[in-house]
Amino acid sequence: MPDESTGKMPVTPVSRSTRGSRIRRGVARALVGMGLVALWPVVSGCRHAILTFHRIREPGRRLDPFDSCPSLDCHAFRAILEHAQGRFVIVPLAELVQRRSQSAPLAAITFDDGWRDNYDLALPVLREMRLPATVFVTTGKIGASEPFWQQVLGGRFREAARDGGPAAGRLREALGLAESTALDPRCYRATVAAWKQLSHDERDERLRRVAGGGSPEAAAPRCFLDEEEIREMARCGITFGSHTQSHTILTRQPPEAVEAELCESKRRLESILGVAIDMLAYPNGDCSPQVIGAARRAGYRIACTTCRGRTGPGDDPLGLPRIEPPWETAGGSLDPSLLRWVMR
Ligand SMILES: [Zn+2]
Repeated sequence: MPDESTGKMPVTPVSRSTRGSRIRRGVARALVGMGLVALWPVVSGCRHAILTFHRIREPGRRLDPFDSCPSLDCHAFRAILEHAQGRFVIVPLAELVQRRSQSAPLAAITFDDGWRDNYDLALPVLREMRLPATVFVTTGKIGASEPFWQQVLGGRFREAARDGGPAAGRLREALGLAESTALDPRCYRATVAAWKQLSHDERDERLRRVAGGGSPEAAAPRCFLDEEEIREMARCGITFGSHTQSHTILTRQPPEAVEAELCESKRRLESILGVAIDMLAYPNGDCSPQVIGAARRAGYRIACTTCRGRTGPGDDPLGLPRIEPPWETAGGSLDPSLLRWVMR
């Protein structure tokens, strides 16, 4: 997820997104109308787009305000790909990096985290449209039913919003919030943002307090890809990269932990697929010169951040910017001018 999983995931509260999206749409229409948006990539030399996706939702399934991981309705996902097909030649990520000095605009499709819906919902669309993609897998979650801590926390917020009373009281107490604090999506996102700054131990401790011993997720269906799905996707032409072993933010870890995360996840994927793995996406998009050096030493050749932008010949292949489609505003139909603005 931009997650920790949501990288530079927008932390804009959902309650403010409608006004924000109206403003963005207005700005987009004005710039598109002036023709300036289309000129920018040509002027900057950064012509190519690496698109970032995370989860894909079943058609018609609404966005969960208590899940900070970006997700797109299957129809919106297809609409974005159709839009991209009209503007770019879509190629595998490794090919885009290899050909990034050419002037014709290329695009690559990437998924972070390794969610099961990438197989169930995204793969059929990709196969039908004959498009390549790369999935960055959190190897410690392969075959897992328990989501990331952000979704576990979101479950407690959802429960409090649904049941009110005791559940809300318990959550406020565990979070140290005043009784008057609304346990709404804005509060959830603020809590996620604050918890990203904590150490693993501190966050786990708080999560235990919030869960109060109960674990409704225990019986949840598997939500991450398993080994066979990974192999089948590879047979369909999908390529894979590492998203580390535990999805930890690498810039907050000591060098030996960074090395272990990078090397163990690489080895696990190589043992599943029987091919060399040399692509990586930094969890939360966070990297530093030290982390990039560690990635290079571990044998990675290509690594993606969540810095927003198109890419060109001058970019370090171990620090590539990407573009996140407008998932928060894609609950209904996608506004083409907004899409042009995002992919500018
Ligand atoms: Zn992630």
